[in-house]
Amino acid sequence: MKQFWLAISITILLALGFGYVVQEFIGGIGKGFIAGIILQFIAFMIYRPAKPDESLEIAESTLDSIVDLQTTLIECPCGKNSFYEPIFINKDNNFTCNVCGSKFRVDITHESILLTEPVSLVNVFNNLKDKEKGLDSY
Ligand SMILES: [Zn+2]
Repeated sequence: MKQFWLAISITILLALGFGYVVQEFIGGIGKGFIAGIILQFIAFMIYRPAKPDESLEIAESTLDSIVDLQTTLIECPCGKNSFYEPIFINKDNNFTCNVCGSKFRVDITHESILLTEPVSLVNVFNNLKDKEKGLDSY
């Protein structure tokens, strides 16, 4: 609401200024004021502030969330400095410590851990035996 009244007062002030400047050519400050208002409306019709691109905003927020997921506490080997930075698997994660001034790299190691039931030879054997029993009944 505050912005609305600010916009209105700027429009009126600009129209008054325009009216004051052109009053001698147009025949009075009143006519100049009205001409100023009309001109501002025409100018607004021609020039509209470009709407921010929605897809660009989505891409930006997606990128931000990825960077957030990769951001972790980095500690310099000197032990006197730690800071939050994103690190990536397929990138040289090189950093410069702003306390000791040395350059260091963060290596990411990863291993696969089985989450499903481990393959058990006993289970496989028992399953085969059950199948064999099933075949015997024929
Ligand atoms: Zn350091």
